[in-house]
Amino acid sequence: MKVLVTGGAGFIGSNYVRGVLHGEHPGFDPDEVVVLDALTYAGNLENLAPVAHDERLRLTVGDICDPLTVKHEMSGADLVVHFAAESHVDRSITGSAEFVTTNVLGTHTLLSAALEAGVPRFVHVSTDEVYGSIDHGSWPEDHPLAPNSPYSATKAAGDLLARAFHVTHGLPVVITRCSNNYGPYQHPEKMIPLFLTSLTDGRPVPLYGDGGNVRDWLHVDDHCRGIQLVAERGRPGEVYNIGGGTELSNRELTARLLAATGRDDSLVRRVADRKGHDRRYSVDIGKITTELGYEPKVGIDDGLTRTAAWYRDNRSWWQPPTRHGAG
Ligand code: NAD
Repeated sequence: MKVLVTGGAGFIGSNYVRGVLHGEHPGFDPDEVVVLDALTYAGNLENLAPVAHDERLRLTVGDICDPLTVKHEMSGADLVVHFAAESHVDRSITGSAEFVTTNVLGTHTLLSAALEAGVPRFVHVSTDEVYGSIDHGSWPEDHPLAPNSPYSATKAAGDLLARAFHVTHGLPVVITRCSNNYGPYQHPEKMIPLFLTSLTDGRPVPLYGDGGNVRDWLHVDDHCRGIQLVAERGRPGEVYNIGGGTELSNRELTARLLAATGRDDSLVRRVADRKGHDRRYSVDIGKITTELGYEPKVGIDDGLTRTAAWYRDNRSWWQPPTRHGAG
């Protein structure tokens, strides 16, 4: 069995690849795992170091927008898990062209090649941000999409293209929409690693607006377990929400990160709110729970403690090398 993983050198994709090759999904034992990744600023080969010597792993450095590369890697794939994306909301606010290219055109290139190659299973990794923002209650999968940032709008476009390839062409696509992830190997531009690495070194951290924005924080291991359930048993053409972590406001999360690093709130700087900042995300996970038996396993206290320890113990992964002037 050949599995093609796009974006497999990023945060979540590499967690998925490491988990598969470490045998974390009983009965799922592919002969070949191909990572297709452009190694943008967000991709890091170090993320695959723990499995780099596994003979089943093959890395292709390439762009999902390149039809020839995609066609070549798609050939013979039994399962595609599509993670590759431009993923940082703040970057999409300052410039969104690359988001359109990768998240929309790249996804279209993959779907077209999968159709041509007759791929029997295509998991499109979308996000809960496609639903917009919700003050009360939780979104079921059939809730209308109302993305608010250029990032989430391009993710929604990819998500709807994936659905359309199922409806129009019968491509066996399954779509996941997950809440905010945290864990090791996450790029330090994202909130939890940014706060952990800064606070560890006694540097100040920025808190957007009134700090009242709420996210459902899920450990990346739980996300990857959900993806695997959907890959193995999700119904083609269906969407599955993944979440069920812990809802926390940014203020509450900051308090936990201060505690995890032994710092106090003198290092917290209130900054102007992010433009178009969604107030709250919350997914209803009834469908994946009932149909596929999904349940999150990593509690927030344990998850954050282990994540803080990982960043403390893996400084060389996140700290840029010190440059010494030549004269
Ligand atoms: P990430 O930014 O850490 O990794 C993205 C990876 O995609 C990188 O390795 C990068 O090099 C690669 N990539 C980017 N453009 C590419 C291109 N044109 N061709 C090939 N590779 C390319 O992102 P992540 O946080 O691991 O997110 C993975 C997926 O999960 C994304 O689709 C994201 O929308 C989705 N998601 C993320 C979260 C979260 O909290 N991080 C939550 C829900 C869904």
